[in-house]
Amino acid sequence: MSNVNYGLRLESSGDSVSAEPRLREVSDRSPVSPSSSVQDLTPYEAVTSQAAIRAKPDGETVFKLDWNESTVPASPKVREAIAAHIAGDRGLNWYPQLGSEELIEALTDYTGLSSENLLVTNGSDDALHLICDTFLEPGDHVVAPAPTYNHFITFAQSCGADIDKPVGESPFDKSLDAIRDALRPSTRILYLVSPNNPTGVIYPPEDVDALCRSNPETLVLLDEAYYEFAQETGIDLVEKHPNIVVTRTFSKAFGLAGLRVGYLSGHPELVDALSRIYNPKSVNTLGQVGAKAALEDLEYLNKYLEEVEAAKDVMADFLDGTSADYHMTPANFVVVRVSQLQETLTELEERGIYVRDRSDYPGLDNCLRMTIGTVDQTQKVIERMSSVF
Ligand SMILES: *Cc1c(COP(=O)(O)O)cnc(C)c1O
Repeated sequence: MSNVNYGLRLESSGDSVSAEPRLREVSDRSPVSPSSSVQDLTPYEAVTSQAAIRAKPDGETVFKLDWNESTVPASPKVREAIAAHIAGDRGLNWYPQLGSEELIEALTDYTGLSSENLLVTNGSDDALHLICDTFLEPGDHVVAPAPTYNHFITFAQSCGADIDKPVGESPFDKSLDAIRDALRPSTRILYLVSPNNPTGVIYPPEDVDALCRSNPETLVLLDEAYYEFAQETGIDLVEKHPNIVVTRTFSKAFGLAGLRVGYLSGHPELVDALSRIYNPKSVNTLGQVGAKAALEDLEYLNKYLEEVEAAKDVMADFLDGTSADYHMTPANFVVVRVSQLQETLTELEERGIYVRDRSDYPGLDNCLRMTIGTVDQTQKVIERMSSVF
């Protein structure tokens, strides 16, 4: 292999621009290197089935069950609101509403909190990133019980944090003892996902309350990306403790993953601290309009939540009749342990079913994670799965 990449450059020759791009040699090394905390990072492993699905012939039904997205389109009201906005005379040429003011207003109703407790972000990943950037310094101690959502780990690492990942006896139990053992008075952030991805573990509000109380100088970061499915929340604790931040998203139950809207809630002083590096125009106009419309159609949300609950029973009945070991979660996914994981994944893909390999997570050897959608979709998925399981 040669040591050069060929960058395409359109060169002008004389006064006419040549139609043929000329190739220029560009060195494959750059003298500009990333910061020391970034240098050792391994990129977030973003394995998605999107390319494989796009390559499929049109009209072939596939089931994208690998990223826990909603399996149905967003509420028609979302699409109407976005279309109306685009057609309006402020279309897209203005910057978005700064700080997502109107969406914040809608979120005060949805969460029961006041606007000074809330910040809207570009997906909840952006909230996690902002929290790390605001509160972490190189060498700071962070506790994140494993297995967990890896994107947070990347953000904390990029700030140079020293991350402890305590493991409990079973990945499907809340590992409170292991967490308490790992915590130190100087721990800067304790990251809890509830329900946890990929295990579905829930940290009930009374446990989170106790952790906030016993570790007053630690920021308890409660990631509730799947809150709507489980309906169990610690968000009220932000009015009780000045050391908790709760993050949520429109990407999962609301079906707006493509719009990138999430939010965080915390004590007003924490929100103030986060506002220092927060970019008030980071949430795009269509995201704000779409998320607000989604909150105005909770009936649609609730119908989808009911579908997923019913579909989980259908999937559990099916799995009960197979030799696979499984763990149904309170979120919108199930963890399934099979004997021959790679073969199973291949066979599922051949049948148009895309799931996520989670076998390299602690305690999850030979496990895959599968999103649960509607009852009708689940019945179709089961028809295809029955020759594999
Ligand atoms: C999907 C997911 C997120 C990311 O959500 P976005 O709002 O789309 O950035 C955050 N946390 C967990 C645990 C998730 O599973």
